Amino acid sequence: MRCPFCNFNDTQVKNSRPTEDNASIRRRRECPQCDGRFTTFERVKLGDITVIKRSGDAMPFEREKIAKSIYTAMRKRPFSREDIEKFISKIIQNLESQGDSSIPSRVIGEMVLNELAGLDPVAYVRFASVYKDFQDSEDFNHFIAHLAQKDKSRKE
Ligand SMILES: [Zn+2]
Repeated sequence: MRCPFCNFNDTQVKNSRPTEDNASIRRRRECPQCDGRFTTFERVKLGDITVIKRSGDAMPFEREKIAKSIYTAMRKRPFSREDIEKFISKIIQNLESQGDSSIPSRVIGEMVLNELAGLDPVAYVRFASVYKDFQDSEDFNHFIAHLAQKDKSRKE
């Protein structure tokens, strides 16, 4: 990286460490020509996150895609558009703070499900059925059983 003081092209990294929230790497750099010191931050850009599908195929992460599934899951539930946008941003922040540039789709799905579980059971079930991968997961079956029971006791 170029020195911001003298424009020398080949500055050196003196040390690198993750920031407190683990969302980026802080690098101290030094210019061998003018001894200037400066700091850079390196963070994963969403465009750089690769989603690894269960089939093993890799594809670039798209906010639109995950947003669409989340909107579908939360549709006509007691959430404002703003609530939903906040929810999506939270998920994306979680993804960014993983500090990993390739993430299995399963991990993303589970992350959304974990967040929805505490928020709204209907949205949870809808999302789980969008991510069909999870239908055979044990947790999902337990959750459905639990819901059915709750629903039954409400009707009685
Ligand atoms: Zn310099």
